[in-house]
Amino acid sequence: MKNIEMTDITKSYDKQKNVLNEINLTIGEGEFFVLVGPSGSGKSTLLRMIAGLEDITDGIMKIDDRVVNHLPPKDRDLSMVFQNYALYPHMSVEQNILFGLQAKKVGKEEQRRRLIETTDMMGLGDYLKRKPRELSGGQRQRVALARAVVSQAPVCLMDEPLSNLDAKLRASMRVEIRRLQKRLGLTMVYVTHDQVEAMTMGDRIMVLHDGSIQQVGNPIELYNEPANLFVASFIGSPK
Ligand code: ADP
Ligand code: MG
Repeated sequence: MKNIEMTDITKSYDKQKNVLNEINLTIGEGEFFVLVGPSGSGKSTLLRMIAGLEDITDGIMKIDDRVVNHLPPKDRDLSMVFQNYALYPHMSVEQNILFGLQAKKVGKEEQRRRLIETTDMMGLGDYLKRKPRELSGGQRQRVALARAVVSQAPVCLMDEPLSNLDAKLRASMRVEIRRLQKRLGLTMVYVTHDQVEAMTMGDRIMVLHDGSIQQVGNPIELYNEPANLFVASFIGSPK
């Protein structure tokens, strides 16, 4: 398992304006950590910097006590699930799930073993030969999750993975993701703009607004002791 440590992380795309300001944050091993904030507050940028998909303008990013500022994404031992989960339409469920492992040169037998273990666990065992278009929205999302889980990376990053699903499915997938994270002991960084999602899923939550941390705390702290009016109104607590 791995922790993530950020020291004075700052990001600007064009020198004019910082989209993230001096972010100081430690995310614990095995923690379900939620980044929440309105659209444009910098959530995806921060997640992409953890993943190595975005340059860090200033500050230090560590994963597992190692500075990773210049480490390429493939060497960071993490998995990522995006909003539009980008399954390959011409590939079967099985091929979609195994794609990343082939790139990492995991042996055939090991691939098979992990495929069966993962798809059994996630109720996808009967769908291995199907194409994404032959699946429901929930099943497709599960394939995207399986693709992350099969990598066995100790850190998992998710960027609004449920926002394309209807309300009912979203509610059940929240429970499913939480269960999976606990069972595998993943260090999870989960981005959402939905405060209900944040409050029901997070061990701890960071509220972001205009690139600055407003508050970090567990759901009860955020609700009972919002640090400012922004947090109070965003979370919907009575202050
Ligand atoms: P969120 O995920 O919270 O909606 P983002 O991290 O996507 O926020 O964006 C934060 C800010 O950075 C926004 O003002 C956005 O317009 C800007 N931004 C994001 N990506 C780029 C980019 N590639 N180039 C320039 N500006 C960007
Ligand atoms: Mg975003």
